[in-house]
Amino acid sequence: MPEQPGKNAIEVRGVRKVFGTGENQVAALDTVSVSIRENEFFTLLGPSGCGKTTLLRLIAGFDFPTAGEILLHGQDIAPLPPYKRPVNTVFQSYALFPHMTVAQNIGFGLEMLGKPKGEIEARVAQMLKLVKMEALKARRTSQISGGQQQRVALARALGPQPKVLLLDEPLSALDYKLRKEMQIELKRLQHETGITFIFVTHDQEEALTMSDRIAVMSAGKILQVGTPRDIYDRPAERFVADFIGETNFLEGEVKSAADGSATVRLSTGAEIPASLPEGFTPSGSVTLVVRPEHAQIGPADANASLRGTVENVVYLGTDTHLHLKLDDGSAFIVRRQNSRGGGEALAPGNRVGVAIGPNAAQALKD
Ligand code: ATP
Repeated sequence: MPEQPGKNAIEVRGVRKVFGTGENQVAALDTVSVSIRENEFFTLLGPSGCGKTTLLRLIAGFDFPTAGEILLHGQDIAPLPPYKRPVNTVFQSYALFPHMTVAQNIGFGLEMLGKPKGEIEARVAQMLKLVKMEALKARRTSQISGGQQQRVALARALGPQPKVLLLDEPLSALDYKLRKEMQIELKRLQHETGITFIFVTHDQEEALTMSDRIAVMSAGKILQVGTPRDIYDRPAERFVADFIGETNFLEGEVKSAADGSATVRLSTGAEIPASLPEGFTPSGSVTLVVRPEHAQIGPADANASLRGTVENVVYLGTDTHLHLKLDDGSAFIVRRQNSRGGGEALAPGNRVGVAIGPNAAQALKD
Protein backbone atom coordinates (compact mmCIF):
# COMPACT_ATOMS: atom_id res chain seq x y z
CA MET A 1 0.00 0.00 0.00
CA PRO A 2 1.24 3.51 -0.74
CA GLU A 3 0.98 4.53 2.94
CA GLN A 4 3.62 1.97 3.84
CA PRO A 5 7.20 2.82 3.03
CA GLY A 6 8.08 1.21 -0.28
CA LYS A 7 11.05 1.36 -2.63
CA ASN A 8 11.74 4.79 -4.01
CA ALA A 9 11.23 5.38 -7.72
CA ILE A 10 12.59 8.93 -7.57
CA GLU A 11 14.69 10.67 -4.95
CA VAL A 12 15.15 14.40 -5.22
CA ARG A 13 18.04 15.43 -2.99
CA GLY A 14 18.77 19.04 -2.11
CA VAL A 15 17.76 20.28 -5.56
CA ARG A 16 18.04 23.98 -6.30
CA LYS A 17 17.20 25.63 -9.60
CA VAL A 18 18.06 29.25 -10.23
CA PHE A 19 17.01 31.09 -13.39
CA GLY A 20 18.56 34.38 -14.55
CA THR A 21 21.41 36.36 -13.05
CA GLY A 22 21.90 39.39 -10.77
CA GLU A 23 18.71 41.30 -10.00
CA ASN A 24 16.71 39.04 -12.30
CA GLN A 25 17.68 35.89 -10.44
CA VAL A 26 14.76 33.61 -9.47
CA ALA A 27 15.16 30.54 -7.28
CA ALA A 28 12.41 28.47 -8.93
CA LEU A 29 13.37 25.61 -6.58
CA ASP A 30 14.90 26.49 -3.24
CA THR A 31 16.57 23.30 -2.00
CA VAL A 32 13.90 20.65 -2.45
CA SER A 33 14.19 17.09 -1.16
CA VAL A 34 11.50 14.47 -1.61
CA SER A 35 11.21 10.73 -2.21
CA ILE A 36 8.54 9.35 -4.51
CA ARG A 37 7.76 5.65 -4.11
CA GLU A 38 7.36 3.00 -6.76
CA ASN A 39 3.78 2.52 -7.91
CA GLU A 40 2.66 5.72 -6.26
CA PHE A 41 0.27 8.41 -7.49
CA PHE A 42 2.21 11.40 -6.27
CA THR A 43 1.00 14.98 -6.75
CA LEU A 44 2.91 18.26 -6.69
CA LEU A 45 0.33 20.81 -5.58
CA GLY A 46 0.79 24.56 -5.30
CA PRO A 47 -0.13 27.95 -6.73
CA SER A 48 1.11 29.27 -10.05
CA GLY A 49 4.85 29.96 -10.05
CA CYS A 50 5.70 27.79 -7.01
CA GLY A 51 8.09 25.59 -9.01
CA LYS A 52 6.00 22.50 -9.86
CA THR A 53 6.76 22.47 -13.58
CA THR A 54 10.42 23.21 -12.94
CA LEU A 55 10.72 20.12 -10.73
CA LEU A 56 8.96 17.99 -13.35
CA ARG A 57 11.26 19.31 -16.11
CA LEU A 58 14.34 18.45 -14.03
CA ILE A 59 13.08 14.88 -13.52
CA ALA A 60 12.33 14.59 -17.27
CA GLY A 61 15.79 15.94 -18.13
CA PHE A 62 14.57 18.99 -20.10
CA ASP A 63 16.63 21.13 -17.75
CA PHE A 64 19.42 20.67 -15.17
CA PRO A 65 19.52 21.45 -11.44
CA THR A 66 21.77 24.30 -10.28
CA ALA A 67 22.61 22.11 -7.27
CA GLY A 68 21.56 18.75 -5.84
CA GLU A 69 20.83 15.42 -7.47
CA ILE A 70 17.95 13.32 -8.73
CA LEU A 71 18.08 9.55 -8.41
CA LEU A 72 15.92 7.08 -10.31
CA HIS A 73 15.84 3.70 -8.57
CA GLY A 74 18.98 4.75 -6.71
CA GLN A 75 20.93 5.84 -9.85
CA ASP A 76 21.91 9.47 -10.46
CA ILE A 77 20.17 10.38 -13.74
CA ALA A 78 22.15 13.57 -14.41
CA PRO A 79 24.19 12.01 -17.25
CA LEU A 80 21.10 10.69 -19.05
CA PRO A 81 19.50 12.82 -21.79
CA PRO A 82 15.66 12.95 -21.71
CA TYR A 83 15.17 10.22 -24.34
CA LYS A 84 17.34 7.78 -22.38
CA ARG A 85 15.42 8.26 -19.12
CA PRO A 86 12.69 5.67 -18.42
CA VAL A 87 10.38 8.61 -17.87
CA ASN A 88 7.66 10.01 -20.12
CA THR A 89 5.66 13.24 -19.95
CA VAL A 90 2.07 14.18 -20.72
CA PHE A 91 1.81 17.92 -21.26
CA GLN A 92 -1.08 20.30 -20.76
CA SER A 93 -1.24 20.79 -24.53
CA TYR A 94 -1.31 17.18 -25.61
CA ALA A 95 1.07 17.81 -28.53
CA LEU A 96 -0.56 15.18 -30.75
CA PHE A 97 0.08 15.05 -34.49
CA PRO A 98 -3.20 16.23 -36.07
CA HIS A 99 -2.57 14.62 -39.46
CA MET A 100 -1.95 11.18 -37.95
CA THR A 101 -4.58 8.73 -36.76
CA VAL A 102 -5.14 7.83 -33.13
CA ALA A 103 -3.24 4.54 -33.61
CA GLN A 104 -0.33 6.25 -35.44
CA ASN A 105 0.01 8.79 -32.65
CA ILE A 106 0.13 6.04 -30.03
CA GLY A 107 2.70 4.09 -32.04
CA PHE A 108 4.90 7.10 -32.79
CA GLY A 109 7.08 6.95 -29.65
CA LEU A 110 7.63 3.21 -30.15
CA GLU A 111 8.67 3.77 -33.77
CA MET A 112 11.17 6.41 -32.66
CA LEU A 113 12.62 3.83 -30.28
CA GLY A 114 13.09 1.52 -33.28
CA LYS A 115 10.79 -1.23 -31.99
CA PRO A 116 9.88 -4.01 -34.46
CA LYS A 117 6.60 -3.53 -36.39
CA GLY A 118 4.85 -6.52 -34.80
CA GLU A 119 5.69 -5.37 -31.30
CA ILE A 120 4.44 -1.86 -32.08
CA GLU A 121 1.13 -3.20 -33.41
CA ALA A 122 0.60 -5.39 -30.37
CA ARG A 123 1.47 -2.62 -27.96
CA VAL A 124 -0.75 -0.06 -29.75
CA ALA A 125 -3.67 -2.50 -29.58
CA GLN A 126 -3.03 -2.99 -25.87
CA MET A 127 -2.88 0.79 -25.26
CA LEU A 128 -6.05 1.43 -27.31
CA LYS A 129 -7.83 -1.07 -25.08
CA LEU A 130 -6.39 0.44 -21.90
CA VAL A 131 -7.68 3.93 -22.71
CA LYS A 132 -10.89 2.61 -24.33
CA MET A 133 -10.21 4.13 -27.75
CA GLU A 134 -10.33 0.99 -29.96
CA ALA A 135 -13.40 2.23 -31.85
CA LEU A 136 -11.67 5.46 -32.88
CA LYS A 137 -8.25 4.09 -33.77
CA ALA A 138 -8.44 5.11 -37.45
CA ARG A 139 -9.65 8.67 -36.80
CA ARG A 140 -7.30 11.61 -37.13
CA THR A 141 -6.63 13.30 -33.81
CA SER A 142 -7.93 16.57 -35.27
CA GLN A 143 -11.32 14.85 -35.50
CA ILE A 144 -11.76 13.71 -31.88
CA SER A 145 -12.86 15.52 -28.71
CA GLY A 146 -10.62 17.06 -26.05
CA GLY A 147 -11.23 14.18 -23.63
CA GLN A 148 -10.42 11.65 -26.38
CA GLN A 149 -7.24 13.55 -27.26
CA GLN A 150 -6.29 13.35 -23.60
CA ARG A 151 -6.67 9.58 -23.69
CA VAL A 152 -4.52 9.32 -26.83
CA ALA A 153 -1.82 11.47 -25.22
CA LEU A 154 -1.86 9.16 -22.20
CA ALA A 155 -1.72 6.03 -24.35
CA ARG A 156 1.19 7.47 -26.35
CA ALA A 157 3.10 8.27 -23.16
CA LEU A 158 2.38 4.85 -21.62
CA GLY A 159 3.26 2.95 -24.82
CA PRO A 160 7.03 2.65 -24.20
CA GLN A 161 6.35 1.38 -20.64
CA PRO A 162 8.09 4.16 -18.75
CA LYS A 163 8.94 3.55 -15.08
CA VAL A 164 7.65 7.01 -14.25
CA LEU A 165 4.95 9.08 -15.96
CA LEU A 166 5.05 12.84 -15.47
CA LEU A 167 1.75 14.67 -15.94
CA ASP A 168 1.82 18.47 -16.13
CA GLU A 169 -1.73 19.76 -15.50
CA PRO A 170 -3.05 17.35 -18.15
CA LEU A 171 -6.72 17.94 -17.31
CA SER A 172 -6.80 21.72 -17.27
CA ALA A 173 -8.15 22.07 -20.83
CA LEU A 174 -11.17 19.86 -20.11
CA ASP A 175 -14.57 20.98 -18.86
CA TYR A 176 -15.60 20.24 -15.28
CA LYS A 177 -17.55 17.03 -15.90
CA LEU A 178 -14.94 15.53 -18.21
CA ARG A 179 -12.18 16.50 -15.79
CA LYS A 180 -13.98 14.60 -13.01
CA GLU A 181 -14.30 11.54 -15.27
CA MET A 182 -10.64 11.71 -16.31
CA GLN A 183 -9.53 11.98 -12.66
CA ILE A 184 -11.10 8.58 -11.98
CA GLU A 185 -9.72 7.27 -15.29
CA LEU A 186 -6.17 8.39 -14.49
CA LYS A 187 -6.35 6.73 -11.10
CA ARG A 188 -7.50 3.52 -12.79
CA LEU A 189 -4.68 3.70 -15.37
CA GLN A 190 -2.11 4.22 -12.65
CA HIS A 191 -3.48 1.29 -10.69
CA GLU A 192 -3.64 -1.04 -13.72
CA THR A 193 -0.21 -0.21 -15.10
CA GLY A 194 1.62 0.01 -11.73
CA ILE A 195 3.64 2.93 -13.12
CA THR A 196 4.65 5.74 -10.76
CA PHE A 197 2.65 8.86 -11.68
CA ILE A 198 3.92 12.32 -10.76
CA PHE A 199 1.04 14.70 -11.33
CA VAL A 200 1.22 18.49 -11.25
CA THR A 201 -1.80 20.62 -10.40
CA HIS A 202 -2.84 23.82 -8.66
CA ASP A 203 -6.30 22.33 -7.98
CA GLN A 204 -6.52 21.07 -4.41
CA GLU A 205 -9.69 19.05 -5.00
CA GLU A 206 -8.04 17.26 -7.93
CA ALA A 207 -5.02 16.48 -5.73
CA LEU A 208 -7.16 15.15 -2.88
CA THR A 209 -9.24 12.97 -5.24
CA MET A 210 -6.42 11.21 -7.05
CA SER A 211 -3.26 11.10 -4.99
CA ASP A 212 -1.68 8.51 -2.74
CA ARG A 213 0.48 11.33 -1.41
CA ILE A 214 0.69 15.05 -2.05
CA ALA A 215 3.61 17.50 -1.77
CA VAL A 216 2.34 21.02 -1.12
CA MET A 217 4.68 23.61 -2.64
CA SER A 218 5.04 27.36 -2.18
CA ALA A 219 7.70 29.74 -3.48
CA GLY A 220 10.14 27.04 -4.59
CA LYS A 221 9.86 24.94 -1.44
CA ILE A 222 8.02 21.79 -0.44
CA LEU A 223 6.15 22.65 2.75
CA GLN A 224 4.54 19.31 3.55
CA VAL A 225 4.29 15.81 2.12
CA GLY A 226 1.51 13.45 3.18
CA THR A 227 -1.58 11.48 2.28
CA PRO A 228 -4.61 13.58 1.28
CA ARG A 229 -6.02 12.96 4.76
CA ASP A 230 -2.77 14.05 6.48
CA ILE A 231 -2.63 17.20 4.44
CA TYR A 232 -6.28 18.06 5.02
CA ASP A 233 -6.68 17.02 8.66
CA ARG A 234 -3.16 17.70 9.89
CA PRO A 235 -1.72 20.66 7.99
CA ALA A 236 1.63 21.67 9.51
CA GLU A 237 1.72 25.27 8.32
CA ARG A 238 -0.71 28.12 7.76
CA PHE A 239 -0.11 28.13 4.00
CA VAL A 240 -1.01 24.42 3.70
CA ALA A 241 -4.11 24.81 5.89
CA ASP A 242 -5.27 27.80 3.86
CA PHE A 243 -4.47 26.37 0.43
CA ILE A 244 -6.29 23.06 1.03
CA GLY A 245 -9.98 23.54 1.72
CA GLU A 246 -11.87 26.02 3.84
CA THR A 247 -10.63 26.57 7.35
CA ASN A 248 -10.83 28.50 10.61
CA PHE A 249 -7.82 29.87 12.47
CA LEU A 250 -7.89 30.38 16.25
CA GLU A 251 -5.25 31.94 18.47
CA GLY A 252 -4.49 30.40 21.88
CA GLU A 253 -1.93 29.94 24.63
CA VAL A 254 -0.23 26.60 25.10
CA LYS A 255 -0.90 25.18 28.61
CA SER A 256 0.97 21.96 28.03
CA ALA A 257 2.46 20.08 25.08
CA ALA A 258 3.98 16.62 24.78
CA ASP A 259 3.91 13.51 22.57
CA GLY A 260 2.20 15.06 19.56
CA SER A 261 -0.64 16.80 21.39
CA ALA A 262 -1.18 20.00 23.34
CA THR A 263 -3.77 21.63 25.55
CA VAL A 264 -4.47 25.14 24.37
CA ARG A 265 -6.36 27.90 26.19
CA LEU A 266 -8.55 30.05 23.94
CA SER A 267 -9.52 33.70 24.55
CA THR A 268 -12.87 32.47 25.91
CA GLY A 269 -11.00 30.64 28.69
CA ALA A 270 -11.93 27.25 27.21
CA GLU A 271 -9.13 24.69 27.12
CA ILE A 272 -9.12 22.40 24.09
CA PRO A 273 -6.85 19.60 22.89
CA ALA A 274 -4.88 20.09 19.67
CA SER A 275 -2.69 17.70 17.69
CA LEU A 276 0.82 18.85 16.78
CA PRO A 277 2.81 18.61 13.54
CA GLU A 278 5.58 16.02 13.70
CA GLY A 279 8.62 17.19 15.63
CA PHE A 280 6.93 20.40 16.82
CA THR A 281 6.44 21.24 20.53
CA PRO A 282 5.06 24.77 20.86
CA SER A 283 5.10 27.08 23.86
CA GLY A 284 3.50 30.51 24.38
CA SER A 285 0.99 31.55 21.76
CA VAL A 286 0.00 29.26 18.94
CA THR A 287 -2.37 29.27 15.96
CA LEU A 288 -4.86 26.42 15.67
CA VAL A 289 -6.71 25.29 12.60
CA VAL A 290 -10.23 23.84 12.82
CA ARG A 291 -12.02 22.64 9.69
CA PRO A 292 -15.64 23.90 9.47
CA GLU A 293 -17.07 20.37 9.50
CA HIS A 294 -15.08 19.41 12.61
CA ALA A 295 -16.80 21.94 14.90
CA GLN A 296 -20.35 21.58 16.24
CA ILE A 297 -23.01 24.16 17.01
CA GLY A 298 -24.45 24.01 20.54
CA PRO A 299 -25.92 26.28 23.18
CA ALA A 300 -24.06 29.55 23.92
CA ASP A 301 -23.38 28.50 27.51
CA ALA A 302 -20.29 28.14 29.68
CA ASN A 303 -19.53 24.66 28.25
CA ALA A 304 -19.03 26.01 24.71
CA SER A 305 -15.44 26.36 23.47
CA LEU A 306 -16.44 29.52 21.56
CA ARG A 307 -19.51 31.75 21.58
CA GLY A 308 -20.86 34.10 18.95
CA THR A 309 -23.71 35.26 16.75
CA VAL A 310 -24.89 33.80 13.46
CA GLU A 311 -24.25 36.32 10.68
CA ASN A 312 -25.15 34.30 7.62
CA VAL A 313 -26.71 30.93 6.80
CA VAL A 314 -25.72 29.50 3.42
CA TYR A 315 -27.70 26.45 2.28
CA LEU A 316 -25.69 24.31 -0.16
CA GLY A 317 -27.93 21.26 -0.65
CA THR A 318 -25.75 18.61 0.97
CA ASP A 319 -24.72 20.90 3.80
CA THR A 320 -25.25 24.32 5.34
CA HIS A 321 -22.49 26.82 6.13
CA LEU A 322 -23.05 28.93 9.23
CA HIS A 323 -20.97 32.09 9.21
CA LEU A 324 -20.48 33.22 12.80
CA LYS A 325 -19.06 36.36 14.36
CA LEU A 326 -17.36 35.25 17.57
CA ASP A 327 -17.51 37.43 20.69
CA ASP A 328 -13.90 38.53 20.16
CA GLY A 329 -14.93 39.91 16.74
CA SER A 330 -13.30 37.18 14.60
CA ALA A 331 -15.09 35.14 11.96
CA PHE A 332 -15.73 31.38 12.23
CA ILE A 333 -17.50 28.97 9.87
CA VAL A 334 -19.30 25.78 10.90
CA ARG A 335 -20.46 23.32 8.25
CA ARG A 336 -23.43 21.11 9.08
CA GLN A 337 -24.52 18.19 6.96
CA ASN A 338 -28.17 18.47 5.97
CA SER A 339 -30.75 15.75 6.45
CA ARG A 340 -34.47 15.85 5.85
CA GLY A 341 -36.13 17.63 8.76
CA GLY A 342 -32.93 17.30 10.78
CA GLY A 343 -31.06 20.01 12.66
CA GLU A 344 -32.32 23.07 14.41
CA ALA A 345 -33.00 25.93 11.99
CA LEU A 346 -30.70 28.85 12.66
CA ALA A 347 -31.05 32.40 11.43
CA PRO A 348 -28.86 35.51 11.44
CA GLY A 349 -28.82 37.09 14.89
CA ASN A 350 -29.10 33.79 16.83
CA ARG A 351 -26.65 33.34 19.70
CA VAL A 352 -24.74 30.06 19.46
CA GLY A 353 -21.92 28.15 21.08
CA VAL A 354 -19.29 26.13 19.21
CA ALA A 355 -17.98 22.84 20.57
CA ILE A 356 -14.50 21.82 19.42
CA GLY A 357 -14.13 18.10 20.03
CA PRO A 358 -11.02 16.09 20.93
CA ASN A 359 -9.80 15.51 17.36
CA ALA A 360 -10.85 18.77 15.74
CA ALA A 361 -7.95 21.17 16.28
CA GLN A 362 -4.43 21.10 14.88
CA ALA A 363 -1.64 23.46 15.96
CA LEU A 364 0.39 25.15 13.22
CA LYS A 365 4.14 25.73 13.13
CA ASP A 366 3.68 29.34 11.98
P1 ATP B 1 2.31 27.20 -13.15
O1 ATP B 1 1.29 26.46 -12.33
O2 ATP B 1 1.90 28.62 -13.45
O3 ATP B 1 2.79 26.45 -14.35
P2 ATP B 1 4.65 26.38 -11.62
O4 ATP B 1 4.41 26.11 -10.19
O5 ATP B 1 4.74 25.22 -12.53
O6 ATP B 1 3.60 27.42 -12.18
P3 ATP B 1 7.27 27.06 -12.61
O7 ATP B 1 6.88 27.11 -14.05
O8 ATP B 1 8.07 25.90 -12.15
O9 ATP B 1 5.99 27.23 -11.67
O10 ATP B 1 8.07 28.41 -12.29
C1 ATP B 1 8.67 28.69 -11.03
C2 ATP B 1 9.32 30.05 -11.06
O11 ATP B 1 10.44 30.03 -11.94
C3 ATP B 1 8.43 31.17 -11.55
O12 ATP B 1 8.74 32.33 -10.82
C4 ATP B 1 8.82 31.31 -13.00
O13 ATP B 1 8.59 32.63 -13.45
C5 ATP B 1 10.31 31.00 -12.97
N1 ATP B 1 10.78 30.36 -14.22
C6 ATP B 1 10.38 29.20 -14.73
N2 ATP B 1 11.03 28.90 -15.88
C7 ATP B 1 11.87 29.96 -16.11
C8 ATP B 1 12.83 30.28 -17.13
N3 ATP B 1 13.06 29.44 -18.15
N4 ATP B 1 13.48 31.44 -17.01
C9 ATP B 1 13.28 32.28 -15.97
N5 ATP B 1 12.41 32.04 -14.98
C10 ATP B 1 11.71 30.91 -15.04
